[in-house]
Amino acid sequence: MKLTRILPMVFGVAVLVAAVAAGVVFFHDITPPLVSVRLDAPAVSRDREIVVDLADEGSGLKSVRIVAVQEQSRAILTEKSLDGARKAEVVAKIGDAPFRDGPIVLEITAHDASMSILGSGGKRVVEQQLTLDTKKPVINLESQFHNVIRGGSGLAVYTVDEDLSRSGMQVGEQFFPGYRLPDGRWACLFAFPWSMQVSDFRPVLLAVDKAGNTRERPIPFHPIDKQFRHDNINLSDGFLNDKMQQFDQDFPGLSSKLEVFLKVNNEMRRANLARMRELGLASAPQILWKETFLRTEGKPMAGFADHRSYIYNGQKVDEQTHTGVDIANLAASPVPAANPGRVVLAEFFGIYGNTVVIDHGIGLMTLYSHLSQISVQAGDSVTRGQVIGNTGATGMAGGDHLHYEVFVSGQSVSPFEWWDPSWIRNNFTGKLAGQ
Ligand SMILES: [Zn+2]
Repeated sequence: MKLTRILPMVFGVAVLVAAVAAGVVFFHDITPPLVSVRLDAPAVSRDREIVVDLADEGSGLKSVRIVAVQEQSRAILTEKSLDGARKAEVVAKIGDAPFRDGPIVLEITAHDASMSILGSGGKRVVEQQLTLDTKKPVINLESQFHNVIRGGSGLAVYTVDEDLSRSGMQVGEQFFPGYRLPDGRWACLFAFPWSMQVSDFRPVLLAVDKAGNTRERPIPFHPIDKQFRHDNINLSDGFLNDKMQQFDQDFPGLSSKLEVFLKVNNEMRRANLARMRELGLASAPQILWKETFLRTEGKPMAGFADHRSYIYNGQKVDEQTHTGVDIANLAASPVPAANPGRVVLAEFFGIYGNTVVIDHGIGLMTLYSHLSQISVQAGDSVTRGQVIGNTGATGMAGGDHLHYEVFVSGQSVSPFEWWDPSWIRNNFTGKLAGQ
């Protein structure tokens, strides 16, 4: 046979052998592990947890190694055996690896548990570009004095030298988010919760950058203590029989109306307040009002943060705090929106009965409850003074009145400050104007 005929044949066989060999490898590596890095921003601090999701549906996962590389330096961040798991979540941190701020490449090498005659199982290498950022954001507090009354509100205005993922005031266990204003400054409405003692009130401003570096800056403040009233509420069988009908289906199987009352006054109250907290954290990022909050006309009844003991047949059966104020007028009096905003709740709302909640932006909300009628819907924009409903006695109300409440990021605060133009000037608009 001529060489010109043999060569193509040899070549053909060689291609065939190579294809078979590749086929073996291919067969065994048909599903190398899937690797994905969970990151909301490519910048990381040294402590930022970098979560890597791994999966291998075929033979399962054998091992993973995460190495960080910056120029000539390499550091193994984590190395783990995964024992054939189908899925795994591995967390790595830059920690004290000897890198400086700047670009870093993360090399993630994952092996599955498959074997082949050529020795290696399925393997995948994924590279992820990151930026190491170890600098904490710098907070420049612009607002000067923060005189905060127990049960009341305060405003901090500040600037920060970089983009943030989160900012706001930590007060005990509670976090009050800050909002970025159109001019680039930040404003944080916070509260001195009525339930907190003066000695426990230490507001700390937080700023967390995109990499996760957190700055904590205590603010200068002056707490003003306030004592609240105490009140006894007598529960008559007439009241319980009449009012608890509304809640019978919420708590079926209870033998007495008093038991239903105790469930409503505790569990349902807690659920309603949890919902207010949720709504408060989803507030509009703009300030939607300018003027003093309108007060519905009528006679003041129960006050803000009155401590209440509930008496049944001469026995104390429960205790709660009345957050908000009660205002009584003629039955079914029209109720005006205290300021412009967006209706975020308009429904029968547990202990509050028929209720409207208006969001005024940056966490500030007003609540109108025990209404006989609701005239707006969730999603509506309302103007100052617009009638949103009529007073009534729905929910846990002994008689026709308006229960009015103000919330700052879900924390009930004294409504009196928001009715007082000089308080608003000194503590809100003045601080925004830089005075
Ligand atoms: Zn009330």
